[in-house]
Amino acid sequence: MQSSRHDTVSRLIFELSKLPGIGEKTAARLTHFILRQNEDYAQSLAEAILNAKQKTSLCQSCLTFTDTNPCRICSSQDRNASLICVVERPTDVLSIESSGIFRGYYHVLHGTLSPLEGVGPEELKIKELLFRINQHPGQLREVILATNPSVEGEATALYLARIIKPLGIKVTQLAYGLPVGGLLEYSDKQTIGKALENRMEID
Ligand SMILES: [Zn+2]
Repeated sequence: MQSSRHDTVSRLIFELSKLPGIGEKTAARLTHFILRQNEDYAQSLAEAILNAKQKTSLCQSCLTFTDTNPCRICSSQDRNASLICVVERPTDVLSIESSGIFRGYYHVLHGTLSPLEGVGPEELKIKELLFRINQHPGQLREVILATNPSVEGEATALYLARIIKPLGIKVTQLAYGLPVGGLLEYSDKQTIGKALENRMEID
């Protein structure tokens, strides 16, 4: 197995197969696709990956991936500072933005609580969220918990609600028309828009 990875085609298949949701078969299909294109395509794909990796950092405020700091959303004066929407991953910011409904700011946790995998509150960007909440007392009125409707997402939302509600801030959760386990990234923008509009307060 080790020696076959020195072969250039096998190496590309191997690297692609590490991507989430891509097994060996899909990796092989992608490899053959790339090899059938002209060299410009391979060059531009490789550059796009390297550029994104080298020029992207975490926004100092919301912790999403960004190539400006703070990110474009956090630097906008044109948004509602009384609302923060808490999401699991940077890609969730893009999903919610695509609905065009939300005009507040975001906070990215970078994961969910998962005791079995050793992910506790310290591993998530919860300290940073509490810092933001305490930074401008009185300004923030509502935190929308937009974690996914999975077991871990729910546990994370409940944990956060228990910490944030005593601060006198309204805590709401997306009203999902999604099956349990459904992910934000697979929902269309209408579904996300509805889930936001019909959000419910957590008791
Ligand atoms: Zn930001």
